[in-house]
Amino acid sequence: MRIPLVAANWKMNGSREFAEQFFSALNLDGASCEVVVCPPFPYLPLVAEKAGEMVALGAQNLSEEVSGAFTGEVSASMLLDWGVRYAIVGHSERRSLYGESSEQVARKFVAAQSAGLTPILCVGESRQEREEGRTLEVIGRQLQTVAEVAGSDGWKCSVIAYEPVWAIGTGVTATPEQAQEVHRFIRGRLGDAGATVRILYGGSVKADNAESLFAQADIDGALVGGASLKAEEFAKICRAAD
Ligand code: PEP
Repeated sequence: MRIPLVAANWKMNGSREFAEQFFSALNLDGASCEVVVCPPFPYLPLVAEKAGEMVALGAQNLSEEVSGAFTGEVSASMLLDWGVRYAIVGHSERRSLYGESSEQVARKFVAAQSAGLTPILCVGESRQEREEGRTLEVIGRQLQTVAEVAGSDGWKCSVIAYEPVWAIGTGVTATPEQAQEVHRFIRGRLGDAGATVRILYGGSVKADNAESLFAQADIDGALVGGASLKAEEFAKICRAAD
């Protein structure tokens, strides 16, 4: 039994006022999925205070290091101090804009888990890789690197997000069939943990396409960027995940 999960990735958007208004407007009546909100770091305490019991707190990133001279970084234990339960690792924007390698992503995955956070590991292919028919090869490699660093038990207590890079922030969503094909492939790569690990889809999820994506057998929820900034739209996506 996998409880559906819908996670909001606010990216570098919002303000104190935005966060306050978002939670005053967020009405999750009728939603029975697990809901996670990942605000920018400075708003974690505010979100922790405003979100209430229905919403778990997530971070958009963390350091692979435990502590020390790493200016500007935030460790897993610091996140735990603020009540954070989930941490996104390997988002394609971190990989492409900040040069995070799959090895570094794997170390972040392990750092999160070692501290007791649940990593949300993002994997996904570029448009060119899809057009060249290399989607499963690319995703297989991204998963393999994490498996090598995290060990065979590493998938337990994790969430995977399949996020085709060409669908993120573009308004172009993978078809339910395209997404399902990759989700099934990912589940097959998780060994025994495959039955219980939640695999989210991310990439231009909106209220009007969420239901058809969630109807797929191996899609257990969504990682939502742009549409998670609108409380009403986000709540509709959460309701569709039931
Ligand atoms: C994301 O950034 O993880 C994402 C899925 O963004 P969007 O929903 O805007 O495509």
